[in-house]
Amino acid sequence: MSKTLPDIEPAFRTTPSYAAQLAQAKRFCERWRADQLFRQELEDQPEPTMQRAGFPFQREEVQPLYDVKFRGETSLVARRVQALHQEKRAWRDDLRKSMRLTSPGLDAWRRRQVHRCTWQLGPRNAEAIVHPPAAFELSRGCSVGCWFCGVSAAKLKDHWLATPENLQLWGEVLEVVAEFTGPAGAYSFLYWATDPLDNPDYEQFCGTFHRVFGQFPQTTTALALRDVERTRRFLKLSEQHGSPLDRFSVLTLKQLHRIHQEFTPEELLRVELVTQNKESIGAQSAAGKALSKLESEGAHATTIACISGFLFNMPDQSVRLISPCPAGERYPDGYITFQEATFADARQLREILRSWCDLPVRLRREDRPRWREDLVCLPVEDGFRLESPRQGMEFLGGPAMEELGRLVGDPTLEELCLRVPQDPSLTILTMQRIYEAGLLA
Ligand code: SF4
Repeated sequence: MSKTLPDIEPAFRTTPSYAAQLAQAKRFCERWRADQLFRQELEDQPEPTMQRAGFPFQREEVQPLYDVKFRGETSLVARRVQALHQEKRAWRDDLRKSMRLTSPGLDAWRRRQVHRCTWQLGPRNAEAIVHPPAAFELSRGCSVGCWFCGVSAAKLKDHWLATPENLQLWGEVLEVVAEFTGPAGAYSFLYWATDPLDNPDYEQFCGTFHRVFGQFPQTTTALALRDVERTRRFLKLSEQHGSPLDRFSVLTLKQLHRIHQEFTPEELLRVELVTQNKESIGAQSAAGKALSKLESEGAHATTIACISGFLFNMPDQSVRLISPCPAGERYPDGYITFQEATFADARQLREILRSWCDLPVRLRREDRPRWREDLVCLPVEDGFRLESPRQGMEFLGGPAMEELGRLVGDPTLEELCLRVPQDPSLTILTMQRIYEAGLLA
C-alpha cells in the first residue's frame, strides 16, 4: 500500500510548470462542475468566458475534460488532468483491495463487508468506498447543519479538548486500535457526524495520530473558510506529515468563489473540492437527512458511510462496529451497527475490541449458515439463485447444489455435509466461498 500518489507527486516537485498548469486545470473542472451559469456561458462564448474567469486556456485545451462528444486530439493539459484522476482512482482501488488488518478475524470480516457492499450498493457506488478500519468523532454534533447530511449529524453540543488527560487517553486508544488494524489504521480519519475543524484542538489530535501511525489522517471539512489562516496552516502541516489528500465540502457557489479567491490553485492541488451546491452536477447522496427528498426525486438509496470497522465518539468514550449499506428505513444513515459499547480506559477498550474481532475466518462445523436478510434463495435447475433488490447470481452444480440451496438456513455446517449428496469436502469448500463472498448473515 503506497501512502502517496507516487507517479504524480515526483512530477509536481521536479517540474513546477506541470504542477501550476495541472492546478489551474483542476480549478477549471471545479468551476465547470459547480457553476451552471459558467457552463452555459462557456457554451455560448468560450474565449471571453475563459478570460473573465482567469483561466489561461483555449477552449479546445479543456474541452475534452467536460464535453463527452469531443472527438479531436486530446491536449496535453487534458491528458495531465485525466492522468491525475486515473492515478487517484488506481490508488483508491489498490487501497480498498490490498488493505490488510493485523487481526485475522477483523480482516476477514472487513473483506466480507467489501463484497456485501458490492452486492447491495452496486459496483459503481461500492468502488468509491475504501473501507478504512476506524473513524473518530472529536465533538458531539456538527456546527454546519447541512440539510443533506448523509449521516444525520446532530447540532453541535461540545468538543473533546486536548487536555493532558484526554491526550493521554487518545494516544492509548490509538495504540489499541493499531494492535488490531496494524499500519492500515493510518487510513482512519477523525470525523464522522462531526466537522474536524469545529474542534479547536484538531491539529493536536492529528499530531498524536501521526506519532502512532506515521501519517496525518485524511481530512474533509466544510469549514475551510471559517478561519482561512488556520486552514492554510493545516493544509501545510497535513502535507508535510504525509496525508495523501484532503477535502473541502463546498455548500454554496459563493463559497466556491471565495475558496478560489483565498487559496491559490497550487495550494489546493492535493485538496479535492466536493461541490455540494445546488448548481453543481451530481451533488448529494440519497442517505441520512437527504434520503426521503432524493428518493422522492427518483434517486437510488446509497450511503456516504465508508468505514468497515470501529466508529468512536471520544467525548462519550463510546465505540461501535459498523459497515456501510444502502440507506433505508432500517438503516437511515447508510450503515449497519453490529456492536456497540462504552469504555472507561484503554485496557477496557482492548478487551472490547478483542471480543469483537474474535470472528471466525473459516466456517466451523457447529455454525448454522443463513443467507443475508436481503437475499432470497430460489431453486433453479442444477442449483439455486440468490437474488437481492439490485442483482442476482446463480450457483450451479447438479443435484448437490440444488439440495444445498434448499437446506441452507437451519442445519449446521456438519449437518449440511451429511445431507448434501456429495463429498463433504466439496460442501465445506462451497460454503466457505459463499461465506467469504459476504452472502451469509
Ligand atoms: S455533511 Fe458534514 S459538515 Fe454537513 S452537517 Fe453533516 S457532518 Fe456536518
